[in-house]
Amino acid sequence: MFPDPQSRSAQLFERARRVQPGANTRHMITFAPYIVYADRGEGCRLTDVDGNVYIDWINNFSTQIHGYAFAPILEAVRAQIERTICCILPDESEIELSEMIVERMPGVDQVRFTNSGTEAMMVAIKAARALTGRSKVAKAEGGYHGQYDLMEASFLPTPANWGPADRPAAPPLGVGTPRSLTDQVVVYPFNDWPTTEALLEESAADLAAVVIDPYPARLGFSPADRAYLDALKAFCRRRGVVLIFDEVFCNRAGYHGAQGRAGVTPDLTVMGKIIGGGFPIGAVGGTREAMAVFDNLAGPLRMSHSGTFTANPVSMAAGIAALKHLTPEVFQRLERQGDRLRSGLTAQFRREGLVMRANGLASMTSLQFFAEPARDYREFYTRSGPDYLQRMQSLHRSFLSEGVLMATRGMMIGSAAMTDADIEETLDRCGRALAAFAGQTAA
Ligand code: PMP
Repeated sequence: MFPDPQSRSAQLFERARRVQPGANTRHMITFAPYIVYADRGEGCRLTDVDGNVYIDWINNFSTQIHGYAFAPILEAVRAQIERTICCILPDESEIELSEMIVERMPGVDQVRFTNSGTEAMMVAIKAARALTGRSKVAKAEGGYHGQYDLMEASFLPTPANWGPADRPAAPPLGVGTPRSLTDQVVVYPFNDWPTTEALLEESAADLAAVVIDPYPARLGFSPADRAYLDALKAFCRRRGVVLIFDEVFCNRAGYHGAQGRAGVTPDLTVMGKIIGGGFPIGAVGGTREAMAVFDNLAGPLRMSHSGTFTANPVSMAAGIAALKHLTPEVFQRLERQGDRLRSGLTAQFRREGLVMRANGLASMTSLQFFAEPARDYREFYTRSGPDYLQRMQSLHRSFLSEGVLMATRGMMIGSAAMTDADIEETLDRCGRALAAFAGQTAA
């Protein structure tokens, strides 16, 4: 199946190379030796341009929580496109989607929309600055919060640039990122409260926001401890700092989002992905008090926010249809199926003698090359080992050859389109893929 140099995908890849650097516009799609091109999707299956069918365990990094060609979303979008695709006047759908988010998310009284998670994070940080009159932002070491260059500091750091454990550095991701920007970032070690507290206290007078993803994908969904989140929240209260949860990804942790599951609510919540039903979206929600910063009816405007496509009605219509069908029962099923996937994989690792872990929660699973859960970025990085990327690439290829599409860093994200039989079929395929992978590792 893969790789086949004669395939149409391989040909398209070569054609793309001429007009797209690296033959892509998304660096996270890094299959080797070529990228597979999609033809169509139906339910939990994607067919590529060569007719190969994969069970899709990426779901576009979470957006396709209903899989593909989900009839209620198609119908809602068709109806909306015929009424209007986009115009200057607001559409009732943006109120309805806001109401649905407010009803679900315990820390959200009001909402504003953007077009991506990156943009929502940027808006949330500006809002925190406007609320506090301060400029600095704290983030967890290794955390991913989109492509806002400020928040890219300390994304994928290595021992060569991550600095001392009790004072992690804020290395920029992009060459030429102004120092004046990264000086505004305080990097704290995830789940280590004494060190985090010391670092946050030191910058408290300049700190606008503390950003945290309670179940970070880049940390293989290692959860933030409840006591750690409580301590962050208490610090923010005490020091007048805005607590921001990044739920762009982990919002799918349950009906009430990651914050409902964690039992801690922030001042501002950044969302995206599943709330758009597969269409581009982002959102900033928060307490009435925090969201008042955007209120241009309540006095002089403190924080300006607009955008040509904000709350575009097609994304709104798709989002409403998606959320309507994401009931508590659907989240329960996703969770049960995620647990079954993880326990099935764990048994297969044991059978193949692989020191690996299927970590995660709900519909989010991360395959890791160590057995005990990692608690922070350095632990995750160190335990993954120096040949992590090569091993992951060969694991990914083994899965792809068996028709299981997972993210290149070993992430498997479920969808409500999957039946229990699809989970068992996935496990059968994974079993064969892991046997092949174990054979290569031993060779
Ligand atoms: N934050 C997190 C935790 C994410 O996973 C992502 C996207 N993968 C983003 C922010 C950025 O969202 P977008 O890609 O929509 O800009």
